[in-house]
Order: sequence, then structure tokens, then C-alpha cells
Amino acid sequence: MDVFTGNMGWIEVVCGPMFSGKSEELIRRLRRARIARKRVQVFKPVIDDRYSEYEIVSHSDTRIEAEVVNNAKEILTKLDWRTEVVGIDEANFMGPELVEIAQQLADTGKKVLVAGLDTDYLGRPFPPMPDLLAVAESITKTLAICMRCGNPAKHTQRLSGSEDLIVVGAGGMYEARCRRCFEAGIPKQETFDFLSPKQRTATASA
Ligand code: ADP
Ligand code: ZN
Repeated sequence: MDVFTGNMGWIEVVCGPMFSGKSEELIRRLRRARIARKRVQVFKPVIDDRYSEYEIVSHSDTRIEAEVVNNAKEILTKLDWRTEVVGIDEANFMGPELVEIAQQLADTGKKVLVAGLDTDYLGRPFPPMPDLLAVAESITKTLAICMRCGNPAKHTQRLSGSEDLIVVGAGGMYEARCRRCFEAGIPKQETFDFLSPKQRTATASA
């Protein structure tokens, strides 16, 4: 929301697929908070060590220093009580407690800026993002460019055959795809029932 006067807390969420500029946008907002002379602390989950252990690095190579945490609860133990703006990247890997913790931080007057994937490689809402969106004051959905056709892309396409929910760090394993070009991966049997009819058809004919 970019207004850093006053001491009321709130939650801002930036969500979208990979390559949509979530990290860039988070970094931009956090830098502006610094320009407004706010005390800023930034956190990222341990799982994302793609480029750096002590920074958030966007795909276009903008950076900001960040503290690594194992889960959302650790944000509270690492938090300096003087911090006014809390940045959190890769929120979808932080665990379910993030919703409660973000609320707690906002209730105690902190601006909480969160970025994360809104859907997984099967196109399913990625917890805890849906709940976070519901409790946020401000939501921004970023779209990437579809690598197949150039349309706005809201999906993260997994290119390898892995069926693990989380595969991080392997370059070239994902690309952005639009609704039309997205092909949901081959899901495990137990996840099959949760797919939309469209995804089921796509999977069955794959
Ligand atoms: P995210 O955090 O959403 O993964 P980043 O902020 O790390 O995104 O990176 C965004 C940058 O990625 C863009 O500014 C652009 O330079 C680059 N990029 C690479 N592939 C794409 C794509 N398919 N669509 C849009 N931007 C892309
Ligand atoms: Zn497309």
C-alpha cells in the first residue's frame, strides 16, 4: 500500500506464478519502506537457497538481505521488537502457522509484506496462501508471460517428471504458462480427486 505513516499494522500479499515478479515487487516495496526510514526485517524459508543464503534474489537479479528461517514460528524468535516492516518471501513454503503469525504481527502494529506462489504445479491453491489472502488488507496478483504463446501466465509449469510437491533449485525445471497452455503434471492417485474436471481430462489424455 506504500503508506508508511502511522503505527497501524496490516498485511499485504503479492502472489502469482514463478517468474511473475513477486520477489521484484516485494524487494521494491521493502526498499521504499527503507526510504521512508522504517526498520525493516526480511525472512525467507530455508528451502529456497537457489542463489543466496542471506539474500532474496529475483530472477532479474535484484536483491535484498534476508534472514533464513525453518518455518513461520522462527520469524517470531528472530524478530527484533523494534522492526516496523516485516518482509516474507516464498510464503507458500513457510507452513500453516504463517497465517496466525502474520495476523499477530499486524495486530501489534507491524506492516507485513508477503510474497508467495498462489498455486502449485498442478494448479491447486498452495496453502497457506488462500487463507493469507483472505485476511490481508491488500492483494496484488502478478502474472508472468506464457513461454508457449506470450499471453499473461498465471500457472507454474513443471517441466520434469517429478511428482514431489516441492522441487526447488533445479534451473530450467519450471516455466510460466497461461491458462490455455498449462498442462497439469501427472498427479499421484491420492491427489487425483482434488483436480478440476479440466485438469482430470488433461491428465487422462497425457
Ligand atoms: P518471482 O518471484 O515471481 O518468481 P522474480 O521477481 O524472481 O519472479 O523475477 C521476475 C523476472 O523474471 C522478470 O522481471 C523477468 O526479468 C524474468 N522472467 C523470466 N521469465 C519470465 C516470464 N516467463 N515472464 C515474465 N518474466 C520473466
Ligand atoms: Zn500460453
